[in-house]
Amino acid sequence: MSTPAATPYWGPDFDALAAFDPDIAGVVIDELDRLRNGLQLIASENFTSPAVLAALGSTLSNKYAEGYPGRRYYGGCEVVDRAEEIGIARGKELFGADHVNLQPHSGASANLAAYGAFMQPGDTLLGMALPHGGHLTHGTKVSFSGKWFNAVQYGVRPDTEHIDYDQVRDLAREHRPKVIVCGGSAIPRLIDFAAFREIADEVGAILMVDAAHFIGLVAGKAIPSPVPYADVVTFTTHKVLRGPRGGAIVCKAEHAKAIDKAAFPMMQGGPLMHAVAAKAVNLKECLQPEYQVYARQVIANAQALTEGLAAEGLRPVAGGTDTHLALLDLKETGVTGADAEKRCDAAGIVLNKNAIPFDPQPASIASGIRVGSPAVTTQGMIETDMKSIASLIGTAIRDADGSRTAEVAAGVRELVGAHPAYPEPKRAG
Ligand SMILES: *Cc1c(COP(=O)(O)O)cnc(C)c1O
Repeated sequence: MSTPAATPYWGPDFDALAAFDPDIAGVVIDELDRLRNGLQLIASENFTSPAVLAALGSTLSNKYAEGYPGRRYYGGCEVVDRAEEIGIARGKELFGADHVNLQPHSGASANLAAYGAFMQPGDTLLGMALPHGGHLTHGTKVSFSGKWFNAVQYGVRPDTEHIDYDQVRDLAREHRPKVIVCGGSAIPRLIDFAAFREIADEVGAILMVDAAHFIGLVAGKAIPSPVPYADVVTFTTHKVLRGPRGGAIVCKAEHAKAIDKAAFPMMQGGPLMHAVAAKAVNLKECLQPEYQVYARQVIANAQALTEGLAAEGLRPVAGGTDTHLALLDLKETGVTGADAEKRCDAAGIVLNKNAIPFDPQPASIASGIRVGSPAVTTQGMIETDMKSIASLIGTAIRDADGSRTAEVAAGVRELVGAHPAYPEPKRAG
């Protein structure tokens, strides 16, 4: 077996990848093509900037930096320390936070660290049920959150499909949880953080806000911030926020030590310093005035898309959206979430089937779809484009025999052609 000659390498070099490994270079190009040619409506996805991608593809990936800036277990950390210090300072400024930890590798890791900071195995966690819009890590049986903790679950009211704050209070009084977590993956409406704070105070619980989905809207000052209310806020950096794939935690000063110790060494080993640097780049992007314009447009687009879908006969769960995502109930169309996802996918519209509250279908079929506006807004699309997207989705969903797939696909090509997500990749050979 021959090994490639070691060449000095300073950063992203696609030609080097293409020359050495055409298989993986082909994957990278095909994925770029897929992103460029389809409508990306998965509510948890976005298009990162070239600046963020450059930091991700840098030699900072080589460095072991267990610990925190100025307190590392390895030598040679003085350079990467700067990336983490700059990122933390930007995070504090952006969120008005006492303390920031940028090391969690993902949103699930950030949640594990936050639980680990405040709970022992067997302690009680009160979180939102997954089928009502919560997250796997908020107490489902298949996740550590439901296996290691005594998980109690709240949901939404059947009449309004908004969070049932009376149920949250009743369950908190009955079960006296150590941690109450709010936030989720399919909550279109704003969350009343003050109501959660009041309930947490009444029962002496820690209030954790999992802002994975909507933290970008907070960063862009388009919706109220949970930071003044919560003991700890966890989030992902790759959803509306538009940074690298990863997690982060902000908390009150009194919890700083516990959170840092839980992130490392309790939960993780060495931080991914290239990802930490990319998070710092993203936080600088979020501090620019343009980012606030982006965040407001994300919401305006989600609302326009939701209205358009309602006109197509899809019922918006909870009556609409205040955020970047909407959940649509398809029951009246007679099409399942799974079939809708497949029919849209065939025409280049990428979205996901999603359980709706009190869904009669199993999660693998589901009665709803979830759509989000972060990626198409990054592409520069506006409300009129959302109306076109809604009509394409409506056509695709009702098209049982696939006879209109080509027509919908042509509409998709027109939209993404006018607003390319990334420049066209150059092909080798
Ligand atoms: C996406 C998400 C997570 C998990 O993030 P990963 O990076 O996929 O681990 C956690 N909580 C909520 C509410 C999410 O939406």
